[in-house]
Amino acid sequence: MTYTIPSAQNSSAQSTDAATHAAVSLVAPLSGRLVSIERVPDPVFAEKMVGDGISIDPTSQTLLAPCNGEVIQLHPSCHAVTIKSAEGLEVLMHIGLDTVTLRGQGFKPHVKVGDRVRTGDPLIDFDADYVALNARSLLTQIVITNSDLVAQFSPYSGNVTAGDVMLDLVLADAASEATVQAGATVTSEPIIIPNPTGLHARPAAVLVNLAKKYQSTVRLKRGDKEVSARSIVGIMGLEVGHGDKVQLIATGADAEAAIAELSEALRSGLGEEGAKPIAAPASVAQADNQAPPPRPRSEDPNVLLGVSASPGVAVGNIHHVQQQEIAVTETGGTPNEERRKLEQALGQAKREIEALRANVHKQGDPKKAAIFAAHQELLEDPEITDMATSAIDKGRSAAFAWKQTYTAQAETLSKLKNALLAERATDMRDVGGRVLRILTGVQAKTVSYPPNTILVAEDLTPSDMATLDRNVIGFATVAGGATSHVAILARAMDIPAMAGTEGRVLDLPDNMPVILDGSKGRLRLNPSQDEMEQVRHKQVKIKAKRERDLATKDEPALTTDGHRMEIVANIGNPEEAEKAVQFGAEGVGLMRSEFVFMERSAAPSEDEQTELYSRAAKLLGPSRSLIIRTLDVGGDKPLSYLPIPHEENPFLGERGIRIGFDRPEVLRTQLRAILRASKLGNIKVMFPMIARLEEFHMAKGMLEEERQKLGVAPIPTGIMVEVPAAAVIADQFAQVADFFSVGTNDLTQYTLAMDRGHPKLAPYCDGLNPAVLKLIGMAAEAANRHGKWCGICGGIGSDPQAVPILIGLGVKELSCSIPAIPSIKAQVRELSLPECQRLAQQAISANTADEVRALYSPPEL
Ligand code: PEP
Ligand code: MG
Repeated sequence: MTYTIPSAQNSSAQSTDAATHAAVSLVAPLSGRLVSIERVPDPVFAEKMVGDGISIDPTSQTLLAPCNGEVIQLHPSCHAVTIKSAEGLEVLMHIGLDTVTLRGQGFKPHVKVGDRVRTGDPLIDFDADYVALNARSLLTQIVITNSDLVAQFSPYSGNVTAGDVMLDLVLADAASEATVQAGATVTSEPIIIPNPTGLHARPAAVLVNLAKKYQSTVRLKRGDKEVSARSIVGIMGLEVGHGDKVQLIATGADAEAAIAELSEALRSGLGEEGAKPIAAPASVAQADNQAPPPRPRSEDPNVLLGVSASPGVAVGNIHHVQQQEIAVTETGGTPNEERRKLEQALGQAKREIEALRANVHKQGDPKKAAIFAAHQELLEDPEITDMATSAIDKGRSAAFAWKQTYTAQAETLSKLKNALLAERATDMRDVGGRVLRILTGVQAKTVSYPPNTILVAEDLTPSDMATLDRNVIGFATVAGGATSHVAILARAMDIPAMAGTEGRVLDLPDNMPVILDGSKGRLRLNPSQDEMEQVRHKQVKIKAKRERDLATKDEPALTTDGHRMEIVANIGNPEEAEKAVQFGAEGVGLMRSEFVFMERSAAPSEDEQTELYSRAAKLLGPSRSLIIRTLDVGGDKPLSYLPIPHEENPFLGERGIRIGFDRPEVLRTQLRAILRASKLGNIKVMFPMIARLEEFHMAKGMLEEERQKLGVAPIPTGIMVEVPAAAVIADQFAQVADFFSVGTNDLTQYTLAMDRGHPKLAPYCDGLNPAVLKLIGMAAEAANRHGKWCGICGGIGSDPQAVPILIGLGVKELSCSIPAIPSIKAQVRELSLPECQRLAQQAISANTADEVRALYSPPEL
């Protein structure tokens, strides 16, 4: 059940007739960022002496009418104008602060007193550069001077485009009139949080994303504390634990719908596994909001305890990490200049994280990608940016304001009783540090460590981890726990790690020999020779096997009965083509061309792309083929300069080839570059996310048109089979496409309807699920029937447990991660085709992915 505060049935973007409507919405007269009136650095406005309202930090230069009405005042300096709406509201718009002193310079009015205007009509043009340089601030205030007519002000927040609704008002007489009409403010009934660990970062991020879909302001309330439901940090700061009671309050045109969807989402655990309606014993519910249990301490002076963060054992020597302290000066330029600096730094940080995310995605690592996605959310958190901006408005430099804000937020998070939330402090410091380095121009220190380093630190950030020195073979941190992002990263990197380690680890001298047991969360100091020997023995065997495989890397992958498999590489940039050859790749089965498009502010030119593709082809030489996949963005791979409107389900929306059809100029430019590069090498092209036959024909048609214009020879053209539909009608596709490459990462996601980046679903999102294998078999059979070939370029191509099954299903090519190539080739040489075919048959008849995995284990070392 919901209850409402009354207003009109209409709270559209225009002011409405008072006789019939109780609610009025004002639209933004300028584009820019909305700032709450209390934050305006001028007491006349901040203390609402003129009236209540809202402020905009503008990015446009023409002030528009926020509602229908009559111009009742235009200041002689033309920096302020008042419109009287049909309801009698007097809406004053004041461009900038202290702009009266400009005496009209930089302002050009379009209206005069007595004019009638409609919403969106231009009122005053102003020269933003001139005003910014010559007045105190460009902040433009929109204030209802007769605020007594208004019972309720509901300002919006965030960025607006001129014409968007920015302020909802409930008129005083209407408010007193009835509490039974449809309303602009809707409050949910109390909701009990079912999430086992409360609203930590991941469910909070889900809630934020849902709230962003609505125009209404949505707030989350626990006890007497209330925060914006669009602020991940705000939500985490509420420390909502399992079994806690919360309420949602929405104000705006779509408040009702917002409350309905968000309440339901909260009630059902925001998609989190294990979020069952409250049946947990009281002790569990209490535990969430109690201090975490005391960390284990060892009685043995030579053993330090912690918790397991990533399994595996390493023998090495301790080295300490020193965190970099960046000094900032308290004051800087004008607030406008400093705000712009901060905006630019935030923008650049977002692009960097986008690139990191793309990079880990390229490595087929959805868990890591999800971590950087959470970092992007933190950068967009209005609570954080508002705090920093407010400090800037008080005269602080951008760097000082930002450092102060993010360290305070991280501090707050780290003190939360809920351990899971407290661990997110590291993420806050990580993102914060990234922005601060951009603001100050201080480069991140690149440190290299001696071989066999076991890194010891108070804490490590995900960014530290993403650029970790190869000599680091394990790490132990004092902070963090099994659920920290760093732990997830360590597992993804396959290096042993422990977290929550006893603090005395920080006092150990550099170079001290230790054994780190990541599985047990145990650090053995000064181990005996025997102990070290045992661990080393196993490691030597692994190394010897690697060397054996490397020695035969250039030999073909022939099964014992002479069946040839082509083992090629997945690459993300031209330089990796060289590395692929060094590891014995017989070509490139997938070049993810996204790399050319990432980390830049505009799409790459045809010449730039031609150069990059040609470079990769040349590095491979004429005997190895290079399969370039056309741009595959959208879904979890956003591009800032190709904005895709908000989508309910981005993975089911405009991604892959669909972007190419929506922006044909981008696809055609890329196709021309690929065709031009094909003159220099053995290049093939394939299209991502093909679901319908028409899509292939359209894409192929564009390729053919460009080819004819360029007058070059045709090139083999294939499709990625990564949508189940393509596998199901593979027979039809095999008649027109030259080859198939199965993208098992997406094929698994779409077959099982499980987000490939979902950290909780990751264990079940297994490409060895019999349903996925069956589809791969269908694609391979269809290709073979029509004299074409089918390869695999998704993650399971590098999975030794999958290799014999894929061979048995009729796949001819495996495109692997570069380091896996020598061992996959060696493995193929140990298998026979009939044995693989038998395994494949068993696999597609198995009941579960676990059953499939139990069918075969790669040979022991
Ligand atoms: C896949 O989906 O398996 C694939 C190889 O493409 P990407 O991982 O780049 O989406
Ligand atoms: Mg894919």
